[in-house]
Amino acid sequence: MQVNRSTFDDVMVPNYNPAQMVPVRGEGSRVWDQEGNEYIDFAGGIAVNALGHCHPELVNVLQEQGSKLWHLSNVFTNEPAMRLAKKLCDATFADKVYFANSGAEANEAALKLARRFALDHYNEDKDQIISFKQGFHGRTFFTVTVGGQPAYSDGFGPKPGGIVHCEYNNLEMLAEMMSERTCAIMMEPLQGEGGIIVPDPAFVKGVRELCDKHNALLIFDEVQSGVGRTGYLYAYMGVDVTPDILTTAKSLGGGFPIGAMLTTDAIASSLKPGTHGSTYGGNPLACAIAERVLDVVNKPEVLAGVLKKEALFREILGKINDKYHVFSEIRGKGMLLGCALNEKYAGRSRDFMVAANEQHMMCLIAGVNVIRFAPSLVIPDEDIIEGLARFEKAVASVVAA
Ligand SMILES: *Cc1c(COP(=O)(O)O)cnc(C)c1O
Repeated sequence: MQVNRSTFDDVMVPNYNPAQMVPVRGEGSRVWDQEGNEYIDFAGGIAVNALGHCHPELVNVLQEQGSKLWHLSNVFTNEPAMRLAKKLCDATFADKVYFANSGAEANEAALKLARRFALDHYNEDKDQIISFKQGFHGRTFFTVTVGGQPAYSDGFGPKPGGIVHCEYNNLEMLAEMMSERTCAIMMEPLQGEGGIIVPDPAFVKGVRELCDKHNALLIFDEVQSGVGRTGYLYAYMGVDVTPDILTTAKSLGGGFPIGAMLTTDAIASSLKPGTHGSTYGGNPLACAIAERVLDVVNKPEVLAGVLKKEALFREILGKINDKYHVFSEIRGKGMLLGCALNEKYAGRSRDFMVAANEQHMMCLIAGVNVIRFAPSLVIPDEDIIEGLARFEKAVASVVAA
């Protein structure tokens, strides 16, 4: 059967507006479309393809586990899930893991757990969830309401209650909002979708102190920042603030859908048998692949490599900006970088992304003012150099237009 981009408009619900080209194959940080054109991939499946496309180790484990055992449901446990959980606990603050299939589901579990923990240990009035403006936590109705962009949560009828939003990086405002009614704070330790905003380290430490003062749980949404993305296995390790609950997805499966919620023994005990669940969550195929991703990423030389690649990106992007004067700031951490557009180009991030695509380079945006790069953590330096040469042509074309 022949399909092309116009088939999308014929048969797909119109909630997305994908690029005109249709990718058919990928290898490392290169992708080919239906016409055989080659692209450099700085989008990384939105911070998912941590090891690029078709990494040999991931192809191996997919084939190995794929010819052994795919799925059981949670009526039975399985070896890959237990091994992955053990490795996640050994590598982080956590004692216990719950598996889901996506970031939103991991966050849904975290929020439900926080509410149940408050009910178990305090009272039913302790139900307030505080999160941050411009934050993003997924698209289920609970998580999208906790997210800080009303445009995403409006228009679907009555929202889940007990949720309020604070300004990111504003400790004073948070201190005023918090009380004994506060059940949990949910925050990204580096805001991704909201514009690649790196918080003040003092703010993150202050949030932890306020949570301790008011007996509220601190939930770090590391769906985008986790699994080596910032040069640390998890971003919390870089700011030296330990959450009570952490969620991880995106890069965790390297392209295979999986999500996880990590927490301590004391908090985990509130998810008693029957309180929560997922049919696919923790299935052996997803867990075997994620286990291999973790094995490959969680090595000192790979994590150090992420910071070296960041330096290369910043050096070349700085030169592009010296020449064309389009960015007000190049920000972010590791392989999660944002170029914030200056006033002259305000609101035009999409134009730059489309121009990059025309130059055969794939990138992302984070709102209307930020161009976002979230490439493979092991992208070869020559692909960074070639991709940014193509990006420079794209910038030149927008500036000249
Ligand atoms: C992408 C993202 C999510 C949602 O993950 P899905 O897998 O799309 O459900 C949640 N939180 C953050 C910080 C994200 O970047």
